[in-house]
Amino acid sequence: MEDGKPVWAPHPTDGFQLGMIVDIGADALTIEPLSQRGKTFLAPMSQVFPAEDDVNKHVDDNCSLMYLNEATLLNNVRVRYNKDHIYTYVANILIAVNPYYDIPKLYGPEAIKSYQGKSLGTLPPHVYAIADKAYRDMKVLKMSQSIIVSGESGAGKTENTKFVLRYLTTTYGSGQDIDERIVEANPLLEAFGNAKTVRNNNSSRFGKFVEIHFNDKNAVVGGFVSHYLLEKSRICMQSNDERNYHIFYRLCAGASEDIKKKLHLDSPDSFRYLNRGCTRYFASKDSDKQIMQNRKSPEHLKVGALKDPLLDDHGDFNRMCVAMKKIGLDDTEKLDLFRVVAGVLHLGNIDFEETGSSSGGCVLKNQSGQTLEYCADLLGLDQDDLRVSLTTRVMLTTAGGAKGTVIKVPLKVEQANNARDALAKAVYSRLFDHVVKRVNQCFPFETSSNFIGVLDIAGFEYFEHNSFEQFCINYCNEKLQQFFNERILKEEQELYQREGLGVNEVHYVDNQDCIDLVEAKLVGVLDILDEENRLPQPSDQHFALAVHSKHKDHFRLTVPRKSKLTIHRNLRDDEGFIIRHFAGAVCYETTRFVEKNNDALHMSLESLVCESKDKFVRELFENSNTTKDSKQKAGKLSFISVGNKFKTQLNLLLEKLRSTGSSFIRCVKPNLKMVSHQFEGALILSQLQCSGNCVITFFKKTLGLNDNDFKFGLTRVFFRPGKFAEFDQIMKSD
Ligand code: ATP
Ligand code: MG
Repeated sequence: MEDGKPVWAPHPTDGFQLGMIVDIGADALTIEPLSQRGKTFLAPMSQVFPAEDDVNKHVDDNCSLMYLNEATLLNNVRVRYNKDHIYTYVANILIAVNPYYDIPKLYGPEAIKSYQGKSLGTLPPHVYAIADKAYRDMKVLKMSQSIIVSGESGAGKTENTKFVLRYLTTTYGSGQDIDERIVEANPLLEAFGNAKTVRNNNSSRFGKFVEIHFNDKNAVVGGFVSHYLLEKSRICMQSNDERNYHIFYRLCAGASEDIKKKLHLDSPDSFRYLNRGCTRYFASKDSDKQIMQNRKSPEHLKVGALKDPLLDDHGDFNRMCVAMKKIGLDDTEKLDLFRVVAGVLHLGNIDFEETGSSSGGCVLKNQSGQTLEYCADLLGLDQDDLRVSLTTRVMLTTAGGAKGTVIKVPLKVEQANNARDALAKAVYSRLFDHVVKRVNQCFPFETSSNFIGVLDIAGFEYFEHNSFEQFCINYCNEKLQQFFNERILKEEQELYQREGLGVNEVHYVDNQDCIDLVEAKLVGVLDILDEENRLPQPSDQHFALAVHSKHKDHFRLTVPRKSKLTIHRNLRDDEGFIIRHFAGAVCYETTRFVEKNNDALHMSLESLVCESKDKFVRELFENSNTTKDSKQKAGKLSFISVGNKFKTQLNLLLEKLRSTGSSFIRCVKPNLKMVSHQFEGALILSQLQCSGNCVITFFKKTLGLNDNDFKFGLTRVFFRPGKFAEFDQIMKSD
């Protein structure tokens, strides 16, 4: 960097701004912005980068920039985004910026056709190019492939995943029903597993790995979906301006009168589980107004009881029904699903009040009588049994002899509310498991030679309040980051070896210590939590203290004091902990960790649903760990660990990923308003810094070119970043 040459210097909202160096200090530079001549500001040396000669020029692959740094990368992505080129490579990694509108012809049949059989780089960057590369690698290397799609909520993971699936089934399908079914399974999965959140109107509240299987002739033979961690808390409670899962509203909006009558459905307003997030939604924000204006039908403008103007529940219901038909669900199966959904809604409306008696128990409120009847009827339960199971708990006393006696302990109102919600969550999450299972039955395969799997799972999350859900998803992202590091580094080193560079093995900062902190046997946070769950009287406070005491001097774990590390409020040691993740420090508030880590229902409720008169409901709970002999189990604490189940699933997934060839798609959210044509540089930069930028770091660091400016390989020359520009200048001046 020299005086008089344009540089990128930090800018609070744009990420970087173009300027000139006017003075060089010990560790700071004085910069004059090009947009404000005459004004200057100081910028740390480490945050100022050389700019390309022509900042309006863009390249398909960031690696072909003259100066590869985070500022030129951001600028390249920006220039391309402004021209609707939302895809850009960083070597083999695809960066995908969400355009928030349908770019004409970008994904149409012509585009699909054009990418078929083309090597990466021969056509403009595209998600189809990545899909085709995966396919060709599978074919040539005779090895399964995986495509890992990452990014924050609303960045476009699910949309890009769908484009990959559509591309592969259209291009390499067998021309049978199966191809269409793999694509049509999505509307059903999304109806039950997606919801409107403040970050995304169609946010996936579960992770998935979708495998497309191919036969020995490399044609599609079937598919398989694995799912991870459905967000259960949403079933009973949503934050402001957020909604429950789509299916609830769609059913209320779109079901025929006959079905509505059968299921005793009414407006979403009348259900507790639906009317607490956004009782009445008004398009108050500018972004919402813009989206509303883009909608053509006046139907969308009707703002009524929980009628979200941004979502078309009625139309979406019809589209979902078409998808259900296409994947082969008959009317009985459809009604089974709807019946349980309605059952959950009615269950949520059951209210309790204190009995006022000395026993301190509670009873159902008078007006809940009819609701109880509806709920029992829809879920195939006996009304009295349901009432008793919601208001009492079976316990085993030890007082009455060695074997003990089963007694019913009355529950307080709050405990009964919790029991009701626990039942609703259990029923709905089992229903979701069933939907995935059913989807898998519609694209079965007998033999498969290889598969291409697409992973669509939430990216790193860092909110003001972070709970068990964020803890699990960030743990997952640590594992995926480690896999990413392994792969990119491995590929680089293989290239250097092929080129005979004789570069020593490069060691990079590993995040294994962070992964161990979470998953190590006995001392890992997950095992500490399980140990807490197994105590006679588990508590979130005791758990938090146990974490601190087991990891007093751990680099990755600190006490939750307000610090530069995080934006959280001050917490006590027994209220949470901070973990330093690869992408930043996160403060976890441990309230409700114990409850969220337990998938088991208390015995009375468990046996109730397991013995339902409704075959479908019974089957949902078929593999649960209940025994008919409630007396035998009553005294034991029932506990099924959510965290450890996730750990097992995740380790299986990573084992699978490691056995495949892999490609990466990093999705980027351009703005928080969810609108088109708005590029918020700083927001995007922060996303690239914990994703795509790692790649730059590797190209800098892995070659170990600090001492030498370049190295000759067998077929190419490797330059230290920045050095190529100098070399190029010399060549030109010669
Ligand atoms: P979450 O983690 O919340 O599930 P996500 O990363 O899966 O988020 P998507 O649901 O894929 O995000 O995308 C959010 C919205 O952005 C989509 O509903 C769609 O409106 C828009 N969108 C995403 N990608 C594209 C695209 N390529 N073209 C047009 N619109 C898009
Ligand atoms: Mg999604």
